[in-house]
Amino acid sequence: MAAEHTARGWWLQEAEAAPELPPLEEELAADLVVVGGGYTGMWTAWFVSELEPEARVVLLEAERCGAGPSGRNGGFVNAMWFSLPALRQRFGDAAALRLTRTAEDAVRDIGRWCEEQGVDAWYQAGGYVQVSTAPAHDGSWQAVADACAELGVAGVCRPLSEAEVRGRCGSPIFRAGVIYPVAATVQPARLALGLRARLEQRGVTIFEGSRVRRLAASGQGVEARTDRGSVRAPRGVLATGPAIAGHRPLRQRLTITSSHLVITEPVPEVLAELGWTGGECITDSRALIHYFRTTPDGRIVFGWGGGRLAPGARLNGRAELDRGVVAEVERQLVRFFPALRGRRIEHAWGGPIDVSPTHLPVVGSVEGDRVHYAFGYTGNGVAPSRIAGRILASLSLDRRDEVTRLPIVEPPRVRVPPEPIRYAGGMIVRAAVLRRERFEEEGRRPGRLTRAIAGLPERIGIHLGR
Ligand SMILES: Cc1cc2nc3c(=O)[nH]c(=O)nc-3n(C[C@H](O)[C@H](O)[C@H](O)COP(=O)(O)OP(=O)(O)OC[C@H]3O[C@@H](n4cnc5c(N)ncnc54)[C@H](O)[C@@H]3O)c2cc1C
Repeated sequence: MAAEHTARGWWLQEAEAAPELPPLEEELAADLVVVGGGYTGMWTAWFVSELEPEARVVLLEAERCGAGPSGRNGGFVNAMWFSLPALRQRFGDAAALRLTRTAEDAVRDIGRWCEEQGVDAWYQAGGYVQVSTAPAHDGSWQAVADACAELGVAGVCRPLSEAEVRGRCGSPIFRAGVIYPVAATVQPARLALGLRARLEQRGVTIFEGSRVRRLAASGQGVEARTDRGSVRAPRGVLATGPAIAGHRPLRQRLTITSSHLVITEPVPEVLAELGWTGGECITDSRALIHYFRTTPDGRIVFGWGGGRLAPGARLNGRAELDRGVVAEVERQLVRFFPALRGRRIEHAWGGPIDVSPTHLPVVGSVEGDRVHYAFGYTGNGVAPSRIAGRILASLSLDRRDEVTRLPIVEPPRVRVPPEPIRYAGGMIVRAAVLRRERFEEEGRRPGRLTRAIAGLPERIGIHLGR
């Protein structure tokens, strides 16, 4: 299996972007400066341009728009129903329902937006299926199904028998599962680059190759300074994805881990044999999750959320390609789909994941309400970043409305342990979770120490898994 390995990945190559935009080389004034050209920053700019078409918005991107996780992810467009039990516990039933319904709308709205804007991001509404691959994982969705039933939305999360699961995708290791019908897949880089193109058409000024070295309150507003220029504005939005952990006030609010993906050559006959032709995106039920989907030309994209953590010293938001992890992803791909043995993997890549201790995104403000931020999507950011962008647009226009009242806005703060304890502890917990999940898949009971260490984060209020 010879694969091309780059950190950026196959999607960005396939999307064949228009040329990179020039960097900032002047001192500018604007109504809003957005730092970061991923989905969060670009949706923010999009919604500001809708709410206040006259506003002068400048977006500064360190590399090129979509170069980060927004152009490299698995392309699962998921709502947040699987977080319903955690949301109820944290925010109460009414707020939990408001957020999950908004997230479900975001899934559909992305498809509608692509259609209206003529952006061919391969949006396919095939649903999301979570399966069990070990007796220990059977029914791990039950708490979600129960919460949905109790809140009168049973249809959003429907348990499937083993036969029903295999009817959708016939992997020999699948057991029972559950389907969330409102979910889709996209070609993530096409979505990112489509957003960039539409923002330019709307008059948003975008500078690429423009890393912001300093974003600070200045006078009545903020100043974003790059190596060759600066932008002053009354408000700023920090949308730098995992790199946000380098921003001092937020440093202890998130952990950075990584995820890696591979994509096969077109294998339509394998998909036909598996009966996997409905466009479903699928995961197993592990905490260190395996996730996979198909593409319109019959490829399988297969990823694993079990990459290493980034130590504090390297909190720059990048994740170099980890060949050891990629080798494990390739091994797992064939375990899930034995018919792929000997088939070509065309590309492998990775990216950083911003993990919040609650596994829920967080939107808030710092610098005396002049800088607004979002982070913590924890590997589920494609749809939620559209909500965050909408919230950030309202906050930066000083509006208070329905979206700014969603419970992910300024939630009670949960901190992660400081470095170096965070990195060392995180790696020990990761090793224990890996061991526990391997044992579970082999039908063995993990030892007491492994269970104790793997369960430690939950006991101190830090959430692991869905
Ligand atoms: C391998 C992988 C698979 C994933 N799979 C899925 C999935 O299937 N479904 C899902 O929902 N989510 C998935 N995610 C998560 C999802 O991609 C993210 O949550 C989402 O893209 C976050 O968007 P963002 O705009 O907040 O951040 P980013 O995409 O990280 O964008 C931030 C941008 O800011 C720029 N930047 C950083 N620092 C600076 C600076 N100082 N100055 C200027 N610009 C700066 C970066 O270059 C980057 O372009 C995955 C992530 C990874 C890594």
